[in-house]
Amino acid sequence: MIETKEKIWLSSPHMGGSEQDYVNEAFDTNWIAPLGPNVNAFEHAITENLGDGVHVAALSSGTAAIHLGLQLLGVEKGDEVLCQSFTFSASANPIMYLGATPVFVDSEKDTWNMSPSLLRKAIENRILEKGAPKAIIAVHLYGMPYNVEAIKSVANEYSIPVLEDSAEALGSTCMNKACGTFGDIGVLSFNGNKIITTSGGGALVSKNKLFRDKAIFLATQARDDAPHYQHSNVGYNYRMSNVLAGIGRGQMEVLQDRVNARRSNYEFYENKLGSIKEIEFLDEPEGFYSNRWLSCILTPSFEIRELIRLALLEENIESRPLWKPLHMQPIFTEYKNFTDGTSESLFARGLCLPSGSNLSLTDLERVTDCIKKVML
Ligand SMILES: *Cc1c(COP(=O)(O)O)cnc(C)c1O
Repeated sequence: MIETKEKIWLSSPHMGGSEQDYVNEAFDTNWIAPLGPNVNAFEHAITENLGDGVHVAALSSGTAAIHLGLQLLGVEKGDEVLCQSFTFSASANPIMYLGATPVFVDSEKDTWNMSPSLLRKAIENRILEKGAPKAIIAVHLYGMPYNVEAIKSVANEYSIPVLEDSAEALGSTCMNKACGTFGDIGVLSFNGNKIITTSGGGALVSKNKLFRDKAIFLATQARDDAPHYQHSNVGYNYRMSNVLAGIGRGQMEVLQDRVNARRSNYEFYENKLGSIKEIEFLDEPEGFYSNRWLSCILTPSFEIRELIRLALLEENIESRPLWKPLHMQPIFTEYKNFTDGTSESLFARGLCLPSGSNLSLTDLERVTDCIKKVML
């Protein structure tokens, strides 16, 4: 009989222990609804964690938060929205929901996130050809903060608001301030594979309380203030369930433990593989603190990347190529892009290694032993 080795996942949920108690509380008190004490307490915990006087609306997904966020920033049919190309498709799909047009901007090498100089080039081109873009979507990919100061300064120069996609970066900071607090609107995700999870969920964050209040209004079917059901706006059913918010409450209690565990995965990989000169890691620039949601490596070529990926697969270890840039995605190739080959090269050469906060030392050693066998 051939024994299959135990599967090592890329990033799997990791409960802390008290989630079930909060979920039971929802059942015991019959708060089985898209509002209730768990939702309020979860929002409070996020607010406390992010600091800087932010207001938080818990929603059904990060994608829903981006959809509402773009609408709050005034994005309408026919408008252009600048979006980081090197990201997950959910960053850009809500642009399409609104009938707006995405324009993609490539990454810089230091953070793998939106290049401030290409952002400027894109804005100047669009102002000449069409008029100023309505919003900028910048992403803290894999938990590494984007160049917050430089992006903000370009955005301010042209008075274009920033939607900060922090779906992968809860627990990351830049210059000691929390990711999620930098944009005019910030977005978090609690999907099953993220650093903490409610199985599915998200949040919209803003220092502007009006944005938070309007988001909740729109997320709960946009009911006017009247005894009957009256509507003057198109609404959505995007609020978070009180049952799922119970999971979120428990997860917030262990967030820093999860960050520490993922950062130590990254350190383990760097220690064990750093001496192999063909393998590169993404260091944190001065003042940047990544939650290391996923640990990523860069290899010299697509062929070597594939050798490693397939060798891991053979050992029943899940790994994943870096995100395919959106300007290369069949659904988005027709849209304008301002690129210089950076994200295309990252996509060809990069691999995400198993990164869960619940991996054992034995799991991590299986990963590095397998990669060493390919490379040495
Ligand atoms: C997960 C993710 C989203 C979407 O969040 P959901 O909660 O899954 O809808 C958006 N952007 C990025 C970069 C993500 O990783």
